[in-house]
Amino acid sequence: MFQKILIANRGEIALRVLRACKELGIQTVVVHSTADADAMHVRLADESVCIGPPPSRDSYLNIHQIVAACEITGADAVHPGYGFLSENAKFADILAAHNITFIGPTGDHIRIMGDKIEAKRTAKRLGIPVVPGSDGAVTDQKEAKRIAAEIGYPVIIKASAGGGGRGMKVALTEADLEVALQTASTEAGAAFGDDAVYIEKYLEKPRHIEVQVFGDGFGRGVHFGERDCSLQRRHQKVWEEAPSPALNAEERARIGGICAKAIADLGYSGAGTIEFLYENGEFYFIEMNTRLQVEHPVTEAITGIDLVHEQIRVASGGGLSVKQEDIKFNGHAIECRINAEDPRTFTPSPGTITHFHTPGGLGIRVDSGVYSGYKIPPYYDSLIGKLIVHGRNRVECMMRLRRALDEFVVDGIKTTLPLFRDLVGNADIANGDYDIHWLEKYLAKEE
Ligand code: ADP
Repeated sequence: MFQKILIANRGEIALRVLRACKELGIQTVVVHSTADADAMHVRLADESVCIGPPPSRDSYLNIHQIVAACEITGADAVHPGYGFLSENAKFADILAAHNITFIGPTGDHIRIMGDKIEAKRTAKRLGIPVVPGSDGAVTDQKEAKRIAAEIGYPVIIKASAGGGGRGMKVALTEADLEVALQTASTEAGAAFGDDAVYIEKYLEKPRHIEVQVFGDGFGRGVHFGERDCSLQRRHQKVWEEAPSPALNAEERARIGGICAKAIADLGYSGAGTIEFLYENGEFYFIEMNTRLQVEHPVTEAITGIDLVHEQIRVASGGGLSVKQEDIKFNGHAIECRINAEDPRTFTPSPGTITHFHTPGGLGIRVDSGVYSGYKIPPYYDSLIGKLIVHGRNRVECMMRLRRALDEFVVDGIKTTLPLFRDLVGNADIANGDYDIHWLEKYLAKEE
């Protein structure tokens, strides 16, 4: 097992990882920018190292400073959290070259999944169902027209290097295709330094369903069921739940089994998430994330397994603590992402939190790094906390969520809490009847 883990992140996820390290009796080092000197994870860590000024590129993305912090403190492993360097293959390689363990998959696996064309090709080879579309990059208009006609309109043009919901263009008919192809490619080149794009069938009313997987480091793979993350705004997840209201046990076992086998065949190690669009009973792979996800706590709630403990065990060579048959699903869990944003316009609302009171009681978990008197710096993303609620079934979970939202108090800044108070009383949400466009349509109506 590791002696000392350096946490290369900030906010609620830095605290989340720190808690897991403490429970495992592992010493902790955190790195932070000058803007985060007062952060909760800095206060609670055994050691902390200031690695630079507020902008992420000079601190949380500064690989040299982070490696130097490992060497100064004698950390033998790094947990990257999510975002920042968590899917940076070069970072994983550099740590390996310094004999420091990256708590995540190999640089090569990160690289494959970071390139969407390569990821899709790999998924297909491993027997994972994919969205019908071009086999690789498409540059030629004629070829694009042929492929689009074959799969049928509407189609979506996606950047191979895309991420964060950027670099996508929909063509409803052949008349739109030429412009869509050209703009997608130009935008991808400007945004990602890689203008390769590919074509896919555009699914009109899908749900976003993702499968949590783990490779144990010894060639075995398991799955921890799915999460439904269909409630999104600008392709950003807002509300996540497990299990999906749309799946039955049979479908879960089938798609989970396919994913677990693929992970084993790939020789993947650590946590991963295989994301699908789901429509008319069919799954279509869109991408794989090679890290811990923001929404991992809903899976922890229904399985009772600490996924960060498992990540640390696997990275240290100790394998998983559970086999597939030990992973049982119990009840229902929902996560609300609480952002420091105006609940209508979603403009960021940094500032000082004058009062912070979290709900409690059976089945409630709040993951947050903020506290009363904390000043939210304006430099980073606006997630200030996550409310995760568990119940024996979805109805109990929703009732508990409603009362937990009533108890939650955040004063001094605007937050997205009022949005969740609206959603929890909505009939479609109560029925689990929503797709990836539901929230955008709902918000447009409310305006
Ligand atoms: P990113 O890496 O930028 O998040 P994804 O491939 O995961 O890109 O897609 C992000 C979102 O874009 C999906 O959750 C979905 O809402 C939409 N999307 C992507 N591909 C398709 C498709 N073929 N049909 C319909 N919507 C899609």
